Amino acid sequence: MYSSFVPVHLVSHPVAQDALVTLRDVQTLPGEFRRAARRISTIVVAEALRDVPTESRTVQTPLEPAEGAAVSGDVVIVPVLRAGLGMLDAALELVPTARVGHLGLKRDDTTAVASRYYAHLPEPIRDSFVLLIDPMLATGGSAVASLDLLLDAGATTVRLACIVAAPEGIAAVEARHPAVHIYTPAIDRALNARKFILPGLGDFGDRLYGTV
Ligand code: URA
Repeated sequence: MYSSFVPVHLVSHPVAQDALVTLRDVQTLPGEFRRAARRISTIVVAEALRDVPTESRTVQTPLEPAEGAAVSGDVVIVPVLRAGLGMLDAALELVPTARVGHLGLKRDDTTAVASRYYAHLPEPIRDSFVLLIDPMLATGGSAVASLDLLLDAGATTVRLACIVAAPEGIAAVEARHPAVHIYTPAIDRALNARKFILPGLGDFGDRLYGTV
């Protein structure tokens, strides 16, 4: 369904996989779901930031100078409302200086087509390292719409971090934005008739906020 050249990074870290089991489990209640979402997001986002620009920095330890590498330049995190908010705290923990944009996309319950109801991005973002966070890459409709918007706003370096991806979603991103790297701990089997991911974990936003 998607080519073997699509830049998909499978995050196989055992701690991420452990958190994913908790997220998938229908018995998991919102409090535990939020903690697992934070745990898995820390690992996925860290992976997605692997090639964030750094600059050498020398600091003074209590004993002597030490050379290191500090994140340089501007990082912009963009959660897709509302499920993407479940990944935001973890991302900001990793890059406390990041600026945050918000995109609101609502999936029509019948057609599963995403329509935008809100967009507020920091400016400028042309030279920023932009990380789009959206936990469920299902049809790819909202990811593609978000990436269109980010590129229209001038973004040139964009990564997509999610928690579960469907082959259909990866194919949709690849077809429209072949240069965008996708980071995910899981590529699931398929979509059902309602465009939910199988086996998936259900509606991420509902499970995060207890609105099931
Ligand atoms: N959004 C979700 O929250 N879950 C899915 O399975 C697909 C889209």
